[in-house]
Amino acid sequence: MLYSKDFTVAICGGGLCGLTCAVAFARAGISVTVFEASTFSQEAGAGVGLGPNAIRALKGLGIFDAVLAQSDQRRPAPRLFSFVSGKNPHDCIFDYETNCEDPVALAIYRPAFLEAVLALLDPSIIMFRKRCTSLNVSENGKHVLHFADGTTHEADLVIGADGVRSVARRYVIGDVPRNPLVYTNTVAYRGLIPTQDLQEAGIQTDLTKRPICFLGLGKHIICFPIKGATVINIVVFMAEHDEPLQSELPYPWVKPVSQDELKDSCKDWGHDPMIILDHLTNPSKWSIHALDPPLQSYVRDKVVLVGDASHAMLPHLGAGVGQGFEDVFVLVQLLTHPQTQKSNLCDVLARYNDVRPPRANDVLQASTRTGRLYDSFRSSAQDKARLQKELSGIWEAVWNYDLDADVVSALEILRRSNVF
Ligand SMILES: Cc1cc2nc3c(=O)[nH]c(=O)nc-3n(C[C@H](O)[C@H](O)[C@H](O)COP(=O)(O)OP(=O)(O)OC[C@H]3O[C@@H](n4cnc5c(N)ncnc54)[C@H](O)[C@@H]3O)c2cc1C
Repeated sequence: MLYSKDFTVAICGGGLCGLTCAVAFARAGISVTVFEASTFSQEAGAGVGLGPNAIRALKGLGIFDAVLAQSDQRRPAPRLFSFVSGKNPHDCIFDYETNCEDPVALAIYRPAFLEAVLALLDPSIIMFRKRCTSLNVSENGKHVLHFADGTTHEADLVIGADGVRSVARRYVIGDVPRNPLVYTNTVAYRGLIPTQDLQEAGIQTDLTKRPICFLGLGKHIICFPIKGATVINIVVFMAEHDEPLQSELPYPWVKPVSQDELKDSCKDWGHDPMIILDHLTNPSKWSIHALDPPLQSYVRDKVVLVGDASHAMLPHLGAGVGQGFEDVFVLVQLLTHPQTQKSNLCDVLARYNDVRPPRANDVLQASTRTGRLYDSFRSSAQDKARLQKELSGIWEAVWNYDLDADVVSALEILRRSNVF
């Protein structure tokens, strides 16, 4: 087969970002192989929300229409949060408004997203059950991926898209005194509830029109409608923000829990959250991990990180995978450029590294601050006024970002430094 570039690419991890990246490279005629640890049959059926910037990146990569077709929305639509007191009488604290020109979002099941993207790929370029255990450089200057089954694979460029527990990250950060992946003292209980069940039980807050966030002290509940508002997706967050961060917890991080454990921790909440918890049968508990401190560099040699491998963050702005798609968009623009070739790969990756860590790490830190904000409501009028002010604009920097300008400035530097 004739390829458009004189270098080969191996993608470690075939999740949301890895597969998106693979589609763009394969379409550009680049030799690419994806190594995925799982078979996707164990894929967690969680939903993921894509904001305006994530949608723009997917459109720029030419895969948005395929993703939309697999979602249960006909088109992306505004999803602006309403913040409500977790205690009776569930006063509205703040209805989010935005100045974003295209304030639309899409909620999709992870398996549906993966199915949409897999359908765009030649199956022969994806290797399943290939868990990468380490990376190194061979004598001929190529990178070698070592797999749990004892096999290896060589490539000129490795993209680490292997998620929060990334092996590629270990290569990129090298020997550091402390693993930056930490348990955030945050747990999320997730579940789905038929809307009709909540209505029949007498819930007063309308959960069918827009996402609702019940605010409290040390906890908050996110509710958003899916499947044409026939089902409500629930995530109950509880956090101990002032506890020192702990090192990575033993796996698994997602466990089934009893409903009683959950209800016990929320006894002080009002009427509507109690109805929600009563109906959250078989919840799963997620121990949320993130990078702290954020990585200053996403690149070492010809290994480059995208997605959670580079900036695993708390999910409070619903922005994690959007940052991953922004990574992929920038990387694809630079690597598929007609003048990119094997001999200048390090210079090109350095420009990716100029623009992505500052942007994604800003969003990571804003997500942490947002979690503290959501968990700080003491049910007083004074607090309501404070929160109205502090919640105003929290998504603007995430959604209104000019990614094209980053690509233009990276290309300009490559031209000025005579790389291109
Ligand atoms: C409770 C919760 C709610 C969230 N809500 C949102 C939201 O609404 N919006 C949003 O944008 N983000 C959200 N996120 C974050 C989002 O899920 C992640 O940012 C996103 O999945 C990252 O995509 P990724 O491709 O980097 O990693 P993943 O999707 O995790 O993919 C990594 C892939 O690599 C594979 N892999 C792992 N290790 C290896 C290895 N050693 N070798 C080979 N393959 C490997 C895995 O099997 C997996 O397929 C949420 C997260 C949580 C926990």
